[in-house]
Amino acid sequence: MQSAGWANPAEISLGLSFFYNAEVKTWDVIVIGGGIIGLSLALALRRRGATVLIVERGEPGREASHAAGGMLVECGLETPAAMQPLATASARMYPEFARELELESGVHVDLRDHGTIVFPPPDHVYENPEFTAALLPVPLAELEPALAQPQRPAFYLKERSVDPRALSAAAWKTAKRRGIDFSSGDEVTAVTLADGRAVGVKTVKTEFHAPKVVNCAGAWSGKIAPHTFPTRPVKGQILCLLMPSHTLLKHVVRSPEAYLIPRSDGRLLVGASVEEAGFDKQTDLPTIQRFHRAALDLAQELRNGKILESWAGLRPGTPDALPILGPTPTPGYYVATGHFRDGILLAPITAEVMSAVIENRTPEHDLTPFSPERFH
Ligand SMILES: Cc1cc2nc3c(=O)[nH]c(=O)nc-3n(C[C@H](O)[C@H](O)[C@H](O)COP(=O)(O)OP(=O)(O)OC[C@H]3O[C@@H](n4cnc5c(N)ncnc54)[C@H](O)[C@@H]3O)c2cc1C
Repeated sequence: MQSAGWANPAEISLGLSFFYNAEVKTWDVIVIGGGIIGLSLALALRRRGATVLIVERGEPGREASHAAGGMLVECGLETPAAMQPLATASARMYPEFARELELESGVHVDLRDHGTIVFPPPDHVYENPEFTAALLPVPLAELEPALAQPQRPAFYLKERSVDPRALSAAAWKTAKRRGIDFSSGDEVTAVTLADGRAVGVKTVKTEFHAPKVVNCAGAWSGKIAPHTFPTRPVKGQILCLLMPSHTLLKHVVRSPEAYLIPRSDGRLLVGASVEEAGFDKQTDLPTIQRFHRAALDLAQELRNGKILESWAGLRPGTPDALPILGPTPTPGYYVATGHFRDGILLAPITAEVMSAVIENRTPEHDLTPFSPERFH
C-alpha cells in the first residue's frame, strides 16, 4: 500500500490514529454525501490509509446514483470537450473498478460490454468524427435483429454499461468492509471552521471533526455553508420494462427519441428526460408514456414485455455542464460535484484525481477547467 502521509491502517485498528481528545473522535477526511462520487472517493482515500467518515443525510446510494441509467458514454454529442480526457480515462478504469467492488462486496454490478448502437439525429450524422469513424461491424439487422427500421443510419461504439444501483450497493458494502465509517440519517448543515480552516461538519444533531472535508452532496452541494456552489437539480425520468426474453436486446441503443439500456436479468431501462423542475422527483404519466411509445417504436417485440416501474432522480447540473472538482477558497475544504449526466462514468477518475488533490499530490489530469474558482 502506498503511503500518503495518513496514519498506518494497522495503527488505526489499535486506535492510535484517532485523536481521543476529551472524547472527541477525529477522522482524516469527512465526505459529505454517500452517492457514487462520495463512496468512490472515500474508498480511494481509505486505500491509501486515510480514516474516513461519510456523512449521508439518507441512505447511501439512493439519490441520483440510484436513478441513473448506467451508460458509460465515452463519446456523446453532449460530452463537453473539456471533459473528454476524464471521460476516456474513467471509461478505461471501469473494468478494474467494477471487478474490485464485485470481488470485495460479492455484488454483481452487471458491467456489460456489448457496445452501443447510436441513431444520431439526421442533422448530426456527420458532425462528430468519432461517430463517422464508427461504422457498424455487420448490418444492423444482424447486429440487433429486434430493432425496427434496419435501414436507418446507425453507428457502433465500444461503450460499456453498468447497473448503478448494484454499483452503489457494492461500493457501500466495500466501504463498510474496509473500515470506512458512516453517519446516516442527518444532513450536514455547514462545514465548521476554526481560524478560517475547515475542521469538520455540523449536522442538525451533532458535529464531526476532521482537518479535511469534501462536499460530494450531488444536486444539494450548493446548500451547505459556507460556500454556495452553483449546482442545480436536473430531473431525469426513467421507465423500466421487462423484456419478453432476456436477450431480446444486447446493445445499448441511443436514439434522439429515447435510449434503451438492457440489463442481463432481462430489465430494460428507457429514458431519460432532462427537466428543470427544481427538487421535484415525481414522475408524470405523459413522459413515461412517451418513453413507452419510443421503446415500442424502436423494438416492436417489447409489446410482449411488462412495465416494471418508473422513477425520477436529480442530476447535479452546473452552469457550464462541467463538474466542480478541487479545493475551495477555505483551506481544508474540497468539492467533488456537478457530474450532471456522467457521474456514474466519472466516478473512478473523480476518486483518483480528488484523492490526489486532498493528499497534496499532483493529479494526473489538469483540473483547471473544473476548478470551483471559475464561478467567482
Ligand atoms: C435519470 C438519470 C439518468 C442518468 N444516467 C446516467 C448514465 O447513464 N451514466 C452516467 O454516468 N450518469 C448518469 N446519470 C448521472 C449520475 O446519476 C450522477 O451524475 C451521479 O449519480 C452523481 O453522483 P453523486 O454522488 O454526485 O450524487 P448523488 O448520487 O445524488 O449523491 C449525493 C448524496 O449526497 C447526499 N446529501 C445531499 N445533501 C446532503 C447533506 N446536506 N448532508 C449529507 N448528505 C447529503 C444525498 O442524500 C445523496 O445520497 C443519470 C442521472 C439521472 C437522474
